[in-house]
Amino acid sequence: MSVSAPGAFIEMSVASRIQLVCFDVDGVLTDGGIVLGDVDGTRLELKRYDIQDGLGIVMLRQAGIRTAIITGRESVSVELRAKELGIDDVIQDRHARKVPALRRLLERRRIGWESVAFVGDDLPDLGVMRLVGLPVAVGNASPEARKAAAVQLTRAGGAGAVREFCEALLRARGEWDTQVEAYVQSRSEEP
Ligand SMILES: [Mg+2]
Repeated sequence: MSVSAPGAFIEMSVASRIQLVCFDVDGVLTDGGIVLGDVDGTRLELKRYDIQDGLGIVMLRQAGIRTAIITGRESVSVELRAKELGIDDVIQDRHARKVPALRRLLERRRIGWESVAFVGDDLPDLGVMRLVGLPVAVGNASPEARKAAAVQLTRAGGAGAVREFCEALLRARGEWDTQVEAYVQSRSEEP
């Protein structure tokens, strides 16, 4: 039995076993652009994130699903964004060895590959996408990443792809509407 959402189709049986959702950063949480600069001799790297993507990740967390970032670049920007969203684990490996990095994380968290979803966009993601239970490609992913994906999103990285996936996953689990109501309720109470 399956439940479809606009733009993405995830089997209910696959969706319900996902315990951890991992995101690549450049081209997934962003449109792939990086702003590099130098301020008084200090290297500066800035990225632009989508606010609706962020709330999608918050909804995953609210539903009890762990989240992680695995990126092949190192930047303070990613640390800040991950902290803001309460992402559980952040792996920034400048050598882009994502498979061993994720393997260590899964061993530490005692989670099997079949219970992991990974959202990627390009060649550095292929190794991981071939191992996880739910490999996902953003709308503007490379042909190789699209081929490796079980789910191909319609929206592009940095422009709603992550939100599209978070909603599709929760809808496939039959949890989206209740999580939206829980979120509204949590924001309607006095702190
Ligand atoms: Mg990427």
